[in-house]
Amino acid sequence: MKTAVVCGAGGFIGGHLVKRLKSEGYWVRGVDIKEHEFARTAADDFRLLDLREPKNCQEALRLPDGRPDEVYQLAADMGGMGFIHSAECEIMHNSVLINVHMTHAAAAAGVKRYFYSSSVCVYRDMKPGEPEMTEAEAIPAHPDNEYGWEKLYSERVAMAYERRYGMQVRIARFQNCYGPEGTWTGGREKAPAAICRKVTAAPDGGTIEIWGDGSAVRSYTYVDDMVDGIFRLMHSELHGAANIGCPQYVTVKQLVDIVAEVAGKKIHAKPVAGPVGVQSRNFSNERIYSIGWRSRFDLKAGIQQTYPWIEQQVKAAASR
Ligand code: NAD
Repeated sequence: MKTAVVCGAGGFIGGHLVKRLKSEGYWVRGVDIKEHEFARTAADDFRLLDLREPKNCQEALRLPDGRPDEVYQLAADMGGMGFIHSAECEIMHNSVLINVHMTHAAAAAGVKRYFYSSSVCVYRDMKPGEPEMTEAEAIPAHPDNEYGWEKLYSERVAMAYERRYGMQVRIARFQNCYGPEGTWTGGREKAPAAICRKVTAAPDGGTIEIWGDGSAVRSYTYVDDMVDGIFRLMHSELHGAANIGCPQYVTVKQLVDIVAEVAGKKIHAKPVAGPVGVQSRNFSNERIYSIGWRSRFDLKAGIQQTYPWIEQQVKAAASR
């Protein structure tokens, strides 16, 4: 039986990844600084460990039968645009420590395959209508925020360890990811979850606030598609970073319209000042396509899975 350690298994994508690995027949250890907020872990073994500490990284990788076959590193001090702009120092400090220590611990333990979750935040801002950017165009680098700089640095840490120690490293640059069992309130939530929550609370014909004028362009990837990309990439021979994202690009205003349509409500979007982030995104998926990955959920199909879950969370919270 193959063994895997998933770092960040108490989080959104890590929690879904554990389920996928279990369905593929793996023995899985989940590691996180906290329990999963919304679901019982599917991992065979779950450790509460602060991965900023080198000894905890070593402990995470010490399995009853030796070292794990595969390590998936998704732990990060992480949130949506509001968090990214208000917690620069925490991101630069905590996520760098996690990545430096975990990459080192994995190489030292002789782990054969190591996955690192990077982000399209490593790229510069784009203008609407610009041609697709490829992975190589992240350099020369000009990320819009410190979260992107940390990801770029940690990618390079992982690649340096691959060169020195022969550990096979796979790096995905995720587009925005959404789906059930993700953060939906509290300040770390991302736009799709925040908009679902606001639409849930609004009456038919009501108004919700959005940050900026609603023209910023994004792509949103449903979590099952993201996890499928991670799994395929990890088992491919694709070296270097690969973007993973749904090729459907929408404005924030269009995202509101799709959520409203799924909710069966007419909703008006009122622009307010807030941390919008970059103006536009348009990335090539050719590398990840080359190993057979395609997104199966367009935005409406993904929101149809996500909105009812958030509606249920909002109702449960209101009745507590
Ligand atoms: P998440 O916040 O739900 O999961 C991250 C997990 O890391 C959390 O459970 C958190 O408790 C854990 N963690 C934080 N500090 C830790 C520490 N010191 N020790 C151990 N665990 C710690 O985020 P997510 O959306 O599941 O993202 C997973 C990964 O994917 C992250 O690296 C993130 O930067 C990356 N990513 C996510 C998105 C997205 O849209 N969700 C987009 C691009 C990249």
